[in-house]
Amino acid sequence: MYDIPFLDIPALQSAHGVVHLPGSKSISNRVLLLAALSKGTTHIHDLLDSDDTRVMLDALQKMGCVISKKDYVLQVNGIKGQIDSSLSLDLFLGNAGTAIRPLTAALAIMGANATMRGVARMHERPIGDLVDALRQLGCAIDYTANEGFPPLHLKGCASPQLHAPIRVRGDVSSQFLTALLMALPLVAKQNITIEVQGELLSKPYIEITLNLLAQFGIVVQRDRWSRFVIPAGSEYVSPGVVHVEADASSASYFVALGAIAQRSGIRIQGVGLQSIQGDIRFVDAAKQMGAQVSGGPNWLEIKQGQWPLRAIEMDCNHIPDAAMTLAVMALFADAPSTLKNIGSWRVKETDRITAMATEARKLGAHIEEGADWLRIHPIQKGQWKSASIHTYDDHRVAMCFSLAAFNADHMRVRIEDPACVAKTFPDYFETLFSVCKSNTIPVICIDGPTASGKGTLAWALAQRLGFHYLDSGALYRITALAAVRAGLSLQTEQADTIAQLATQSKIQFNCERILLNGINVSEDIRTEEAGMNASKVSAMPAVRQALVDLQHSFQRLPGLVADGRDMGTVIFPASPFKVYLTASAEQRAQRRYKQLISKGFSATINKLRSDLEARDTRDMSRTVAPLVAAQDAMQLDNSNLSIDQSVDLVLSWWQSKHPKASSPS
Ligand code: C5P
Repeated sequence: MYDIPFLDIPALQSAHGVVHLPGSKSISNRVLLLAALSKGTTHIHDLLDSDDTRVMLDALQKMGCVISKKDYVLQVNGIKGQIDSSLSLDLFLGNAGTAIRPLTAALAIMGANATMRGVARMHERPIGDLVDALRQLGCAIDYTANEGFPPLHLKGCASPQLHAPIRVRGDVSSQFLTALLMALPLVAKQNITIEVQGELLSKPYIEITLNLLAQFGIVVQRDRWSRFVIPAGSEYVSPGVVHVEADASSASYFVALGAIAQRSGIRIQGVGLQSIQGDIRFVDAAKQMGAQVSGGPNWLEIKQGQWPLRAIEMDCNHIPDAAMTLAVMALFADAPSTLKNIGSWRVKETDRITAMATEARKLGAHIEEGADWLRIHPIQKGQWKSASIHTYDDHRVAMCFSLAAFNADHMRVRIEDPACVAKTFPDYFETLFSVCKSNTIPVICIDGPTASGKGTLAWALAQRLGFHYLDSGALYRITALAAVRAGLSLQTEQADTIAQLATQSKIQFNCERILLNGINVSEDIRTEEAGMNASKVSAMPAVRQALVDLQHSFQRLPGLVADGRDMGTVIFPASPFKVYLTASAEQRAQRRYKQLISKGFSATINKLRSDLEARDTRDMSRTVAPLVAAQDAMQLDNSNLSIDQSVDLVLSWWQSKHPKASSPS
């Protein structure tokens, strides 16, 4: 996950491959609650692991539910609809509407004593209609801050009044109805009727609720979308095993990707055309816009069809979440598109109508908006702007706008707070990058002599930008170590054999561990002797050649920071940004000394200084790829700078030099 202030996505062109999507948030949280309320044990497969499911799990455990995990399968031992009334619960539910609403209803009806709270945005999301419905039943509920909004204090429920139909509004959020439908079976000694007032929003989510209730033994009778009856004697019984479908809303980004990217061929695993999730209907909308989509029970395949995409005018009430993806597709259409009946966007993670309009305008779009509609005018070639997309702590805003990186003007797109995708899809960007191709993946080259601080600087830059990191020196160190371990002398006569060894060895960078043929050599390659040996093998042209492809393979989305001696001159000469880092020999010897002593090695400064000067001389005088600053490198003598100062300085150079637009080669 990219836990950084912003993620720069370079211009993307094509997309190809298979994606496995995380489980549906709506199904995951419903299944968790139903399993917890049931009699018996439920084994849940493919549950989404995200912020919203984590808060639900925490809450259920506090309610006394025993939950364990084995081999990716979650085991939930149900509490049979009974809660210990002496418990005083304090439940923090983040920004998860799918957790706070049904939990409020279930806990209130079970007569629990509980505080229900969340993040600041959660305290701005209405819950009054649900509280009103629960109060009709006799549940005692207080607002602890603002009337109509969480936090809430549940203070028990004498004996629920269930004779008259229970009325709930359906035109603010369908989650209120879902909450009642899931809670009322707990007290269904008689038939219980729920009447929906106002036009019911997001009916497909109610379909999911009814479908899952049936899996847990509750067959609700439905009269159109206005009257629901829970039959007398209903009781939750675990079905034993439940498989959670992949999230159809998450699938929308990859359906759109297939429609927008050139030479695309995307296969989505885990959700198919027969999905119980309403957002699967997004596929129909995407087809109308020109996507070619085929599918089976749990897979979808998408290719680009009509291009540019066809504009649409659509009532999106049935696909409220996925419709945000249509808004971004509309930027690539042949005429303005109108999304109607999207009033519920205003009370989601953020006011999504305002958010989508504001951010699309930053990209250069002309947008018109109303109380419950949005008209998106496509952006013509030449009109796209490089934008920094604010994401409002809203996962869907972040995911939608990543697709703008396919713009015709090859502008990069900055996504602020990319970690907000953790709400439903923690690995969204990794998944996206695994199937996308870019002709302009940026490489930042940091070259310089031994102990100049390149490694530390390059690693820190990579962390700050979410880029991959190549420590090219490690490759020469590993090669030398492999040669020594194979009993080879490091003489030039052995160059071809050592080069062959380098190509045949399996070198893996696994988090902070470096593996040579599966063996951890992270420590062994860091000794002074290993450095000296590396300097010997790196002077061999055959060895350098043998490592070129491996080094190039590190250039992956969203970008790379590479450190070494010839990153800017030989390996990535076209890089738009090169830094040549130096420090005085005395400073470098001091730094190396401190490093070694802190690791418990013995060393003397004078010896270190003469060794590193010897290595510099060899690196600078060898015939191939000698250590020299690239002509277009920025020079930085960091003798008197701290690491943080160097990182900040180089980052500021990068921000100012980073090309705003670049043409694909
Ligand atoms: O950077 P580090 O000290 O780990 O590099 C070890 C040795 O590998 C250097 O002294 C240098 O001789 C060699 N090297 C190189 N080209 C690179 C990186 C390192 O020749 N790109």
